[in-house]
Amino acid sequence: MGTIYESRRGTLYNERITFYGNAIAWMVHFLFCILFWRLDVTSLFLSNGLSVIYYTISFYFVHKRWYGIFFTGLFIEVVYNAMISTFILGWGVNMHYFILMMAYGVFFMPSVTKTQRILATLLAMVIYSILFIFVSDGQVTISASFEQALGLFCILSTVMMIAGLSFIFESAVVEVTDELELSNERLQILASTDGLTGLLNRKIGQEQVAEAVDRAVREHIPYAIALGDIDRFKSFNETYGHDCGDRVLQQVASILSDSDGITVRWGGEEFLLFLTDPSGNFYESIERIRRTIEVTSFIYEGERLHVTMTFGLAIRHDFDTVAEIVKEADDALREGKRNGKNQVRYT
Ligand code: GH3
Ligand code: MG
Ligand code: MG
Repeated sequence: MGTIYESRRGTLYNERITFYGNAIAWMVHFLFCILFWRLDVTSLFLSNGLSVIYYTISFYFVHKRWYGIFFTGLFIEVVYNAMISTFILGWGVNMHYFILMMAYGVFFMPSVTKTQRILATLLAMVIYSILFIFVSDGQVTISASFEQALGLFCILSTVMMIAGLSFIFESAVVEVTDELELSNERLQILASTDGLTGLLNRKIGQEQVAEAVDRAVREHIPYAIALGDIDRFKSFNETYGHDCGDRVLQQVASILSDSDGITVRWGGEEFLLFLTDPSGNFYESIERIRRTIEVTSFIYEGERLHVTMTFGLAIRHDFDTVAEIVKEADDALREGKRNGKNQVRYT
């Protein structure tokens, strides 16, 4: 209990099915009432009359959402009526099928514990067995054609109810599965991206880069990793506040993510770019990005900020581990920082 499936199953069942189920039951018993009154079978006229009264009251249970009472009442009413009808009209009218229907239906009822379901099914099966053993002919004589018609009605409506229940719950399972898949996707996006920039976070980025390296090696395409670090980033925070620093990070991330490769927020103001290029023009590509950042207007609260970045580049034609390539790119980046910043370095 308490699972999404359980609560969704409750919702579907409670709100839609109970009302229509109650209305159909009311109508069927009302028709039976008229039928047995016309046929002069007083006992069944009375028992169906009682059922009509019960289902009239039961609309109130549905309205109040007292589903526990509603389903208990339904179970007792159906089993009782099937019993008495079988006893009076005989086995041949197939009223006993409604007991089997309840034995199955009880497993789909909400607000019922597993033990209660099993016990209710067992009870229904015991009653069914007793009727099966002891009842053959009924107490009143009915015409063969009427027995046939009623028999067919009972078996068809039982099959319809079983099919209907299965259909409803199959749809519920599909709906819940769809919801779970969707929330899984959302969780996956949340777990793999950096909240501020929307880029891949370091953990997932590292995994994706490793896969991309394997792919590039398999396809014999040169690849490169560039590590970029915003120059004097601390000064934005210190001069204009942390929010300004965040905005700069977002805008830089947006420019970097325009590149064709994989873009990762590697650390605070440090980004990793993974690129593949059959012609191997990595330096030119990164230099273009560096230049774009240099000439882009970063406006914060009316102030034009001058943002630059230093990149370290490591190029490969064969396999190497991500850690090794990153280390080389990082060394080049440090070199670039020492050498005056705002440049692309590679060894
Ligand atoms: P350098 O030119 O040598 O790269 O210096 P720098 O100031 O850019 O680098 P430093 O490593 O000294 O400072 C980086 C700062 O970035 C320190 C940290 O407070 C800040 N920072 C890290 N993550 C975030 C973030 O998500 N938002 C903001 N606003 N600041 C961040
Ligand atoms: Mg920096
Ligand atoms: Mg840094």
